[in-house]
Amino acid sequence: MSHIVIIGAGQAGAALAAKLRALGHAGPITMIGEESVPPYQRPPLSKKYLLGEMPLERLFLRPESFYAENGIELRLSDTAVAIDRADRKVIAGGAAIPYDQLALTTGAVARRLPGAIGGELAGVHVVRTLADVDTMAPDFAPGRRVLVLGGGYVGLEAAAVAAQRGMQVTLLQHSDRVLRRIACPETSAYFARLHRDHGVDLRENTQIAALRGGTWVEQADLSDGTSMEVDTVIVGIGVTPATSLAEAAGLAIENGIAVDEMGRTTDPRIWAAGDCTSFPFRGARIRLESVQNAIDQAEAVAANMLGSEAPYVPVPWFWSDQYDVKLQIAGLNTGYDRVVVRKGDRDLTVSHWYFRGANLLAVDAMNDPRAYMTAKRLIEAGRSPDPGMVVSGDLKSLMAA
Ligand code: NAP
Repeated sequence: MSHIVIIGAGQAGAALAAKLRALGHAGPITMIGEESVPPYQRPPLSKKYLLGEMPLERLFLRPESFYAENGIELRLSDTAVAIDRADRKVIAGGAAIPYDQLALTTGAVARRLPGAIGGELAGVHVVRTLADVDTMAPDFAPGRRVLVLGGGYVGLEAAAVAAQRGMQVTLLQHSDRVLRRIACPETSAYFARLHRDHGVDLRENTQIAALRGGTWVEQADLSDGTSMEVDTVIVGIGVTPATSLAEAAGLAIENGIAVDEMGRTTDPRIWAAGDCTSFPFRGARIRLESVQNAIDQAEAVAANMLGSEAPYVPVPWFWSDQYDVKLQIAGLNTGYDRVVVRKGDRDLTVSHWYFRGANLLAVDAMNDPRAYMTAKRLIEAGRSPDPGMVVSGDLKSLMAA
């Protein structure tokens, strides 16, 4: 019977393995993961888990027993070091594991600060894995001074948790606005104000020059020539797709492991899904870093590994929780030329609708789940409302138009 090996035991790997079984694959499945724990969800790591409001077991996507019960051999604390494509074997933990088909769900790794500017001092943390968060949790104590580098999701969510904990928070954004990679200036301005209103010292156009200390970080020198004393540093400056194994095996890499619409790499027996991949979409090649993409692409790949030949078409959605604001994003705003602002009836309730010409591409909804749901349905149906009605019409009329 066909043996499927999955390298990477994160959200995508777990979804892929479970879907293979759900679709009736009866052959053996082996999943190799570097961490010591079964696949877990990352979104609560830097929020509820960090705050001690969620026990470890609730992070797990499925109880450990699920894998044994479903004939999925889970090789934890194991690292795949090479793929032998000629002999169809994965080399891991000194073993050569034969495969008929292989799936790469290797995810992405957090970018770190170079050691030369103090990135290796104790007290300097990235936020990606359970181990990262377990290490940083003791530093998250009231009154401590935390310097957050990067105004993306990691930086903003960590800043919110730290401020709520009663820490003194400074956040550096190296460019002119937070969430620049992801959102329009209106959404950036909304979150900059939200953080400042909660006491965060947010400094745009500023970056780190050096971190100093003995073994523990004590001081940060900034690009504007000033220095500040710090107790801990959170580094949230993005991630890099984990492609080294695929690259060493000679697979095509293009901002991630290059796959086709089916999720197949340049080797027809090797597939890939999740943060580590780039795939064709609307005439371009994109890489998505999101839970939604990890699950949906992995499930599509599982079906295709079993022969369904159904292209993966993402229907992106996304969320972020900061203070008492829930940001929900539907669609992909790439290529927008206009943003229409729809104000809600409460102070922090607003949605930003991205258009390209007359076409609705995406929506950022802040504390406005009804606007989010309406937009999501319209985008999924390929329908675009009149921008004037978005500003002032009621949501039901947008669906009806
Ligand atoms: P991110 O969203 O890409 O944000 C990176 C931030 O760091 C941006 O503000 C970026 O600014 C800045 N930056 C980039 N390179 C830098 C450099 N060399 N020096 C200083 N600043 C730099 O990445 P992230 O916040 O680290 O998050 C990592 C991943 O986790 C992402 O995939 C994210 O989607 C995911 N995540 C998601 C959620 C959620 O969905 N709620 C929560 C946490 C994490 P510019 O854009 O201006 O370059």
